[in-house]
Amino acid sequence: MKKTIHCPSCGAPLDSTSTHCTYCGTQIKKISTRQQQEARIKELRRAVVGRTPTFDEAMELAKLYTNLGQSAHAEEYLRQAIALNPDAPQPRILLCLSLLGFNRPTTSSRMYADEIREHFNWLYQHHPRMREVEWLGYFLTMEYFMEAQDWRRGLETGRLAVEKFPENYLLQFMYGLALVHFGDTDGLDAQDYRQALHHFRLSAELNPEFEPAMKNASALENYLKG
Ligand SMILES: [Zn+2]
Repeated sequence: MKKTIHCPSCGAPLDSTSTHCTYCGTQIKKISTRQQQEARIKELRRAVVGRTPTFDEAMELAKLYTNLGQSAHAEEYLRQAIALNPDAPQPRILLCLSLLGFNRPTTSSRMYADEIREHFNWLYQHHPRMREVEWLGYFLTMEYFMEAQDWRRGLETGRLAVEKFPENYLLQFMYGLALVHFGDTDGLDAQDYRQALHHFRLSAELNPEFEPAMKNASALENYLKG
């Protein structure tokens, strides 16, 4: 199995041969050590004492904190970066991804739904063709259908989403959920379960740290074994 590394900007799982992050669009350069990152944070924070950080400083701090798994700190700086330059798409993309829980083993974006929606709407209005905006759009639409328990439209959208973004673990996961009708299991047959299992396994292989995919895959395996 290939080694998983994390995108230094958004924290998404990537394999070690990646040259750019397919989740947030960042080019992957040499990743510095934890000590180097902590030293750089200290240096930057000293530099901004008593004044507002510049856009570049806020972005660098946000990425460093994301990389260290301190997403609350990262989000604080991303919000500052957005306030400093409301026309830049990158801090909005990174904030959406952080609020979606890329640095945590499970996703729970519900608490932040309004904030995510606000930034996504801006992104969709200004940069509808950006790959990052496109996959995020699929994901949020799938979430919406899940909440509405509309598995028919969930299936339709999910199919398109994984066709276009086969390497996205979140979209594979959401499609798996749609295939089991978002838990409304009346009328499902073994073939549906097998198909869902396939997409949960794809999701788990793309991101071995993402627990929900792993858990759903093993629950379905057990079920199918009877
Ligand atoms: Zn990224």
